[in-house]
Amino acid sequence: MPRFDRELWRKRAQERAGRRQASSLPQDLAAVESIARAVDWCRRSGIDVAFDYRTGGTSSGDSVTVNSRLAPERQLHVLLHEVGHCLVRRRLLESRFRRGYEERDPARLRSTAHRIDVLFEELEAWHEGLRAAAMAGVDVDLDRYNRTRSEYVRGYLKWALRAPGYEGGLEDDDPGPGKRRQAASRR
Ligand SMILES: [Zn+2]
Repeated sequence: MPRFDRELWRKRAQERAGRRQASSLPQDLAAVESIARAVDWCRRSGIDVAFDYRTGGTSSGDSVTVNSRLAPERQLHVLLHEVGHCLVRRRLLESRFRRGYEERDPARLRSTAHRIDVLFEELEAWHEGLRAAAMAGVDVDLDRYNRTRSEYVRGYLKWALRAPGYEGGLEDDDPGPGKRRQAASRR
């Protein structure tokens, strides 16, 4: 799976700026530097980082995958969040989240309590993502990070409450958060 390549990411940011009227190039290049720093920290911390074109973002064990088609700052936010999941898993012995993504009992998987546990873990992973950023020495614009968080969490809220279109199991969920959730659960 493709790896982070600073020069390639910078080139893509230039191309992206060329396609847009309002150039966000300086912010995009700054985000690429932050991704570089975060990826470097992950390598030192035993977390494998790969990129693809399909997922919103997934994590499994100590590996994370981020969609490189997302805007650079969005890639940074998703990367931090997925790393947050790794950090949550490393602390799983606390058992706070054992009924969330770790749940395997089919009956429990259908329960609202399970969905709330998943939601709880999601929120925790966004929080842990900020902790990872601090450890990596990456500056994060908190308002913008929280805006990404709210977009992602919104889908999980609907899923947890079985809003229309989100009633069924993960397979029935809509392509947005559903796919992310589904993919994230494959680990
Ligand atoms: Zn997540």
